[in-house]
Amino acid sequence: PPPMAQIELENVGKVFPGDVVALDDVSLRIEDGEFIALVGPSGCGKSTLLRSLAGLEEVTSGTISIDGRDVTDVAPRQRDVAMVFQSYALYPHMTVRQNLGYGLKVRRTPKTETRTRVEEVARMLGLFELLERKPGQLSGGQRQRVAMGRAIVRDPAAFLMDEPLSNLDAKLRVQMRAEISQLQSDLGTTTIYVTHDQTEAMTMGDRVAVMRKGELQQVAAPQELYDHPVNLFVAGFIGSPAMNLVEATLERADGGFVVEAGGQRIALGDETMSARPAIKAYQGRKIVLGIRPEDLEDAELATDIPADRRLRGTVELREALGAEIMVHFKVDAPPALTEDVRELAQDVGDERAVQQEEGARETTMVGRFGARSKVREGDPAEVAVDSRVLHFFDLDTGLGIYDESTKGEEAR
Ligand code: ATP
Repeated sequence: PPPMAQIELENVGKVFPGDVVALDDVSLRIEDGEFIALVGPSGCGKSTLLRSLAGLEEVTSGTISIDGRDVTDVAPRQRDVAMVFQSYALYPHMTVRQNLGYGLKVRRTPKTETRTRVEEVARMLGLFELLERKPGQLSGGQRQRVAMGRAIVRDPAAFLMDEPLSNLDAKLRVQMRAEISQLQSDLGTTTIYVTHDQTEAMTMGDRVAVMRKGELQQVAAPQELYDHPVNLFVAGFIGSPAMNLVEATLERADGGFVVEAGGQRIALGDETMSARPAIKAYQGRKIVLGIRPEDLEDAELATDIPADRRLRGTVELREALGAEIMVHFKVDAPPALTEDVRELAQDVGDERAVQQEEGARETTMVGRFGARSKVREGDPAEVAVDSRVLHFFDLDTGLGIYDESTKGEEAR
């Protein structure tokens, strides 16, 4: 088994020359054997965090420890961590055997030990038959396995992976994702995996850490992030297509609560109110209402949802994907255009939100409808809302409105 490696960052800051704050008071504890996926938009500091852990970057403040040992000022070689990069970081002129053994060679490991270790790892990764080939003679997946193998051979306390799959095609990425997850869990080596792909993060991570502008936003298990995003940023970042966000008010009506957004009105059942009692305090105030596309359905198909839980608008676009239909529809409800939302839209290239004007009265929403939906472009849209899983955010702070009991694990 690999050495124990609990990794701890305490109040870590990194400022580059020119006052570029890449890491802002980051505190995070990664348990021994854990797989943490680190996600966030371009430039949020993911690589800087990883490089700081590896010792390739000197931090400006705070401490980093590995298995209880303060390594803040320890040289990369002495930290016992292995970086895994994209597969094109392999040495093209060396064979697979030489690539795999290189890390051991520079550490002056005896030749016979290197040989045994390299062959053991090559067998583990299905590379044994390919040991004498050069990277140019391998497929993309095989090259990626060699890149992984180079790290595994050293038996480090932790793997630090920086977007290792980003130059592979979509199908191979999905396959390698599963392979890396399996390998990591077999080896039990603490792993930090940087990606900008939220699907990759959600499927691979025991926990996912979401970063924005050098700050950790939320660190939690994938389901927890999805169910209880701490703020609008996390809400918009996790989930694809992104959560629909509109400005709304919470009102009392018909003996219960309703949420009103422009001309739209959705009844909140007792089950919603008892699950989310904290929202009662927002009665009469503006909030942001979040609805995930998967919680919307063609009303024709959602016969179990009462008629007082519907959005009404016009179908703008129908994208049939076989198993489901993505339906873009316009409703008369003001879009939530907080700074978070705009930044997110830009980052994920969401044309919908980017094009929304300040003061707009209409929002284009996306729903994932069942494949049997017959809606057509230009038709009136009658959309059923699963009101049990609505999301509510404070308009001023952007924070999710939760009770202590339902609150997600916040970034510490
Ligand atoms: P990406 O997903 O695009 O790789 P990232 O989240 O990994 O982005 P970092 O590379 O960690 O982001 O960069 C964080 C911030 O620090 C950015 O604003 C970047 O421009 C800045 N930065 C990174 N390296 C340096 C450097 N050597 N000198 C000055 N600024 C830097």
